[in-house]
Amino acid sequence: MADRPVREQIEICWGERRVIAELLRTNRRALRIDVRPTGEVAISAPVGEEIEEIRGRVHRKGAWIFAQIDTIAQRPEVTPKRRFISGETHLLLGRQYRLSIEQSNDPHVRLEGGRLVISARSTDDQPHCRRLLQAFYTLKAREVFRQRFEVVAEPFVRKGLKRPSLVIRAMSKRWGSFTPSGRVVLNVDLVRASPRLIDYVICHELAHAFFPDHGDGWRSLLKTVMPDWEKRKAQLEGALR
Ligand SMILES: [Zn+2]
Repeated sequence: MADRPVREQIEICWGERRVIAELLRTNRRALRIDVRPTGEVAISAPVGEEIEEIRGRVHRKGAWIFAQIDTIAQRPEVTPKRRFISGETHLLLGRQYRLSIEQSNDPHVRLEGGRLVISARSTDDQPHCRRLLQAFYTLKAREVFRQRFEVVAEPFVRKGLKRPSLVIRAMSKRWGSFTPSGRVVLNVDLVRASPRLIDYVICHELAHAFFPDHGDGWRSLLKTVMPDWEKRKAQLEGALR
């Protein structure tokens, strides 16, 4: 009969960061570290292995563990299913707008007071309405991201960064990235967030031009350029659910 795994907890410390992981004792011989999609950490360790030994081995993986946690934290939340009907609320640049759909032979989208008006050929053609709104969001994203990018890139350019280029596209798993060829890629869906949160993502990615990981160098550069970056990061994680 196999022994039932015994569940314990272990605190993982790395730099100033802490996380409580679930510690599972198993009959496996190797230590295994899992960062789950929820950001929780689970350690499977051989039965009988000393806790200090486990702590030491986990600590050596600290950079990797916290990088995984950060990647998960940056993932966009799944947008609730939208039906593109009048009365539904949609976010744009951090503000909530009520959708209003009207029939028109000149399909377009416009902001009118607190409303987001979709003039559609047919008011109950949801794919048509969705495409119109998506096109509008893409236009807004291009306009706003470019403006913000110019402003946010300035201190990095002063630090010697060659003027970087910006790419805007749909991304399914993250808000932005920094490519090896030196481009900042931003998720078009970020246009739902307020400009200060957009600034944070741009800043986050530009700091990767100097430091590829999220280590101390990266953190201190970010702190210099955007002292309240951690607050913005937390807000971004909560804003677009
Ligand atoms: Zn990053």
